[in-house]
Amino acid sequence: CGIVGVVGNRNATDILLQGLEKLEYRGYDSAGIFVTDASGKTNLVKSVGRIADLEAKTGDNVTGTAGIGHTRWATHGKPTEDNAHPHTSTSGRFVLVHNGVIENFSEIREEYLANDTFKGQTDTEVAVHLIAKFAEEDGLSVLEAFKKALSIIEGSYAFALMDAEDADVIYVAKNKSPLLIGLGKGYNMVCSDAMAMIRETSEFMEIHDKELVILTKDKAEVMDYEGNKIERQSYTAELDL
Ligand code: GLU
Repeated sequence: CGIVGVVGNRNATDILLQGLEKLEYRGYDSAGIFVTDASGKTNLVKSVGRIADLEAKTGDNVTGTAGIGHTRWATHGKPTEDNAHPHTSTSGRFVLVHNGVIENFSEIREEYLANDTFKGQTDTEVAVHLIAKFAEEDGLSVLEAFKKALSIIEGSYAFALMDAEDADVIYVAKNKSPLLIGLGKGYNMVCSDAMAMIRETSEFMEIHDKELVILTKDKAEVMDYEGNKIERQSYTAELDL
């Protein structure tokens, strides 16, 4: 299972699909991508089976400058298209990919989301509904809504979150699941694995557990869940293809 994201690159779709291919060795049962751009056009493509199947389903019109992709290893809910990531809020505005297991997802659903309808059975879908609730019902900014959700969610996760109304930002957080920033020229990436980004860049930045990153095309802002900024140096890796 794995995650890839890119912001600020006109070849977002190709970068995501190539990244997912590189993550195939980790094992997966289904995959999906979300791609958007400044015009607000959104594309969500999911498929059970191989990345080649996802590629075949991805039409030439699926283009954009930012997006997130996922290979799923099902832990909660069968490997179906509905359960494949990215998952969306009811409004469709919030889009989330997740690796790991949210231990308290049923408590969260009961306490905060009793009136929501879910498309599938995953723990992940509960997380994106929770973020949407804090943003859309309680009026929090996306960052504040994400931070609040992270303060409630327990378990292991690598998250990449997008707001379909804002193609300029990917929100990232991790706890006990791998995730790494890749810094490109005029664009940035996030991925489970450096090998899946090495075609694009050799400059990386670590994310530690319980850190949040605001990723834009020219910046990776690292902070803790209280919003305190963290200085993090990037490093250059020489990896063989
Ligand atoms: N727990 C999530 C699911 O079952 C994520 C699994 C994964 O890490 O791919 O959909």
